[in-house]
Amino acid sequence: MLLTNYRGRFAPSPTGLLHTGSLATALASWLDAKAFNGVWLVRIEDVDTTRAQPDASEGILQQLALFGLLSDEPVIFQSNRYEIYADYLTKLIKEGLIYSCTCSRKKIQDHYEILGKNISTHEELVYPGFCRSQPIQFDAKQALRIKTPENAYVGEQLLNKEVGDFVIRRADGIFTYQIAVVIDDHLQGINHVVRGADLASNTPRQIWLQQILGFKTPQYMHIPLILDQHGNKLSKQNKAKPLWPKSNQEILSCLTLVAHHLGLDLPDTQPIHLSEWLHFAVCAWRDQKNTRDAQLIA
Ligand code: GLU
Ligand code: ZN
Repeated sequence: MLLTNYRGRFAPSPTGLLHTGSLATALASWLDAKAFNGVWLVRIEDVDTTRAQPDASEGILQQLALFGLLSDEPVIFQSNRYEIYADYLTKLIKEGLIYSCTCSRKKIQDHYEILGKNISTHEELVYPGFCRSQPIQFDAKQALRIKTPENAYVGEQLLNKEVGDFVIRRADGIFTYQIAVVIDDHLQGINHVVRGADLASNTPRQIWLQQILGFKTPQYMHIPLILDQHGNKLSKQNKAKPLWPKSNQEILSCLTLVAHHLGLDLPDTQPIHLSEWLHFAVCAWRDQKNTRDAQLIA
């Protein structure tokens, strides 16, 4: 038996219930952890309390349980962890890396428009650093940004030019996904992250934060997204259907569909009991690792 200290996780934001797309991420991260005899955790990323939907956290946990995907350790909720994030923020402030920023999106957009750039509504704009020399206003309701150094490459990406100084804590006091995910992955000892390809552009920022904070960088694997018939990402925002299978057969057909999407080659005859099906899929995931990795985005 393969023994490792693999620790992986599934970290949904409770902005809606689990749908086929998020089940794919959950299953891939679970299969990868189990294929390495690892530990698999569920963490509810409700740091942005303004976007969390009432009952979605409980709902997601119930849905995961229906599919037999159970966290090996107690589930943690980011909404309870404000003080932890605040401690790390203090550390970054002491290192002189944080500044207050009052710039609106409009101001940043105007800056680019003057330069003749066309900006689409949801485009992430590289912050031009207007407030960089501004000291921190502790009691004011201002966003806090972290200074990305000139010439800091993470992989291929030049952070300062392609991402720019990014927000760590918003003007409404809410910590951002980037900092919360890095702190929690570290504190939970996560060494393998399997998540959707839509999150891949965040990875350089997160690796850089890990370096600044002295954390180890986990191994990242990004799985291809499941698209709807219009080629859009399946997401809670575009009302992908929540999965509430009513029978064992429905549970297995959801899992089989998602497993095929993940590139798992499963024979037509498969076990009909959930626990056996999952065990069977873990073996397939382990056996097909090499061929599958070649297809997935590393
Ligand atoms: N909470 C994030 C989401 O649901 C995923 C976090 C991650 O896997 O890094 O989109
Ligand atoms: Zn500013």
